[in-house]
Amino acid sequence: RYPMAYYHPSFSVGNYMEYVNYAAPAAMAPAQIPILHYLANNNAFFNSNKANLDKTPVFVEKMSELFGLYPFKNEKYGHAQANIGGGMEQQTMSTMSSFGTSLIAHELGHQWFGNSVTCATWNHIWINEGFATYADYLMNEQLPTLYTSSAASVMTAMHNNVMSATGGSVFVPDADLFDENRIFSNRLSYEKGASIIHTLRFELQNDNLFFQILRQFQTQFKDKVATADDFKAVAENVSGKNFTNFFNQWYYGQGYPTYSINYYTRNDSLVMNITQTTSSPGNTSFFSGLVEYTIQSGQGDTTVKFNLTSNGQEFRFKYIKDPTGIVIDPNNWIINRVGSINRVNPPGEPPVNPPGPGTPSIVFEPYVSPNPSPGNITLRYPTNVYTQAALFDTQGRLMQKIQLSQNTNQYQVGTLLANGVYFIRFTGAENDKTIKVLVVH
Ligand SMILES: [Zn+2]
Repeated sequence: RYPMAYYHPSFSVGNYMEYVNYAAPAAMAPAQIPILHYLANNNAFFNSNKANLDKTPVFVEKMSELFGLYPFKNEKYGHAQANIGGGMEQQTMSTMSSFGTSLIAHELGHQWFGNSVTCATWNHIWINEGFATYADYLMNEQLPTLYTSSAASVMTAMHNNVMSATGGSVFVPDADLFDENRIFSNRLSYEKGASIIHTLRFELQNDNLFFQILRQFQTQFKDKVATADDFKAVAENVSGKNFTNFFNQWYYGQGYPTYSINYYTRNDSLVMNITQTTSSPGNTSFFSGLVEYTIQSGQGDTTVKFNLTSNGQEFRFKYIKDPTGIVIDPNNWIINRVGSINRVNPPGEPPVNPPGPGTPSIVFEPYVSPNPSPGNITLRYPTNVYTQAALFDTQGRLMQKIQLSQNTNQYQVGTLLANGVYFIRFTGAENDKTIKVLVVH
């Protein structure tokens, strides 16, 4: 009924029992697709696997929604049990010996990626294995109650496996085309392959667009073969973006980046200087692309994204909190390691909060001196930036409102403060900074 992926027909004979359930993809309602499960004729075995077998129609429906309608809908899908290692995605009837949730999802994913669209050469086994692995990840992400491990923990484990060695490309080089273990490298073809699809999704910043690309690829290459470059062309046509660097770095390239950040605050801005080294610099010396950062602060975390285009790039943005740290790639979109993250003094300026006495004549950032204090505090502030200050206790009660003179850059609080924690909020037309003060007599 359908053209067939020609390289993996299978024939199994045994004393099977048949179990049938049905998938009902919304796009073909009310019609349904029969799912035929052929298992060893053993009720105990069937009973212990029924819950997972019953996930199959749910996966068929979800993948139909994400990738386009199940490609062999007028025929069937199913499982044939046979004593093989792992599974094999025979078209419309996957073979496996055990019925784990991820294996069921992976082999089903191959019906789209591998069978309906087949890799043109073994160089591009990514089209099969990278996408089938990602199909399993997507089922976990979209249907978390059907899985025991979280999708996030699966992605972390895949990244760690990828980074267990410094090099290796998803693309299978010609020299390795007769090495079955390299072609089917779990680390590179499956897990790095799936991880970079996730990164490409992050680059798009638009899940509708991402899944539109997957569906367009399926439509365009249905019953055909395709390379990664064919997929790239579809991604570029649908999104209007250029993915040449992306594929050169992540698909044809090797290794992963290690990011480091030096950051400082100045007036109402945070400045981040981002550097990177790579694990396989002879092959890939720089990874450009979007990276996410969470700026941590007691006043609330802030997440920002910047498109990294060069090493040592500086990003500056409005930020009026007191940062306590930065998390790089907090949602784990990118295979990467973290080097050092340091808060540094603004270049050419005295330390933000000079310890002990000393009254610099120019103040760039408001601060309180001394801090901790034995009870008497002085506010220091840049003039023409901050015009008012307010003293609060830990309950948020206003204790004192202060007009900041613009003829001087300091104000001595007259009251001797009792032991405890206080907050001084400095405000100006465009600035707002709160500083925590500890008073210990
Ligand atoms: Zn596979």
